[in-house]
Amino acid sequence: MTRPGQFASDNYSGICPEALEYMLLANEGDAEAYGEDEWTRKACDEFRRLFETDCDVFFAFNGTAANSLALASLCQSYHSVIAHQTSHVETDECGAPEFFSNGSKLLLGDGAEGKLSPESIAELACKRTDIHYPKPKVISITQATEQGTVYTIDELRAIKDVADRYQLKIHMDGARFANACISLGKSPAELSWKQGVDVLCFSGTKNGMAIGEAIVFFDKQLAEDFSYRIKQAGQLASKMRFLSAPWLGMLKTGAWEKNAKHANQCATYLAERLCEIPGVSLLRPCEANAVFVVLPEQVIVKLREQGWRIYTFIGAGGARFVCSWNSDKARIDQLISDIKQLMAK
Ligand SMILES: *Cc1c(COP(=O)(O)O)cnc(C)c1O
Repeated sequence: MTRPGQFASDNYSGICPEALEYMLLANEGDAEAYGEDEWTRKACDEFRRLFETDCDVFFAFNGTAANSLALASLCQSYHSVIAHQTSHVETDECGAPEFFSNGSKLLLGDGAEGKLSPESIAELACKRTDIHYPKPKVISITQATEQGTVYTIDELRAIKDVADRYQLKIHMDGARFANACISLGKSPAELSWKQGVDVLCFSGTKNGMAIGEAIVFFDKQLAEDFSYRIKQAGQLASKMRFLSAPWLGMLKTGAWEKNAKHANQCATYLAERLCEIPGVSLLRPCEANAVFVVLPEQVIVKLREQGWRIYTFIGAGGARFVCSWNSDKARIDQLISDIKQLMAK
């Protein structure tokens, strides 16, 4: 058992009340299987309302599948995907994007603070144009990034320009899309299709649901036969309503926004307090719900001994603390106090 109030990741948290409430509502009586039910229909409509456009929406169990299947739908096997070298699709999906696309290669780009730069994309897009190299077809960006930063509207526009120049599609890994919307004060539409995003993988899990990711196609042509892809990958839930009803709850009640706002506010608070401790500094700017901090190795060891769960493999040279919908101010203060004491030794 892990002590409550961890900062390891936003997927350590439980289910938020709104998601749970709708899951229980969906449990009253029976419903059609495989997404033919009323809950799924309503959830998809609610996504179209949220994104202010007629998009196609699908559900998968996790983000790895959502990203991989979305990328596979944008690529032929001889195509390639340009992604940041620290992106989740590259570092944390066990080769699933390549597997599900039958071999579409990931081309690794760079850019400060976990953000793929337009220059790096352009370089990869025109590095080779001969038949012996997989043809670049997609740009994959993560919003908010794995480094706790967000792409601004201007940065997204610059990426869209490069995409247009080299006829590339845009995939967005939105594991923390809600946090990015709150951080920038922009609507889901403004941060997605209005900036040229073709497919968005929007995470419910990290936002407060038990399980479930929405794959949102803004270019409906790209969604052709996508339901077959989902089924073949073993991602079609037969009792789909238990994935879709919680989404309906998240969107209808505004919990998606409330949860992200709370998580971001907690992270900002944590970052500010940590910076007041002598010897502690941020590794990256805190722009969403994650705080990357430079801490001496022995302090990290001691924190772990005290029961704190910390990720150190993302963002070498520092520790990552992630806040979520249920982060608690008293626990944040406890963490700060523990770090303060260890730093003073
Ligand atoms: C958590 C996360 C995912 C999804 O991971 P799963 O464990 O497959 O659900 C995808 N992208 C990013 C950036 C993430 O942080």
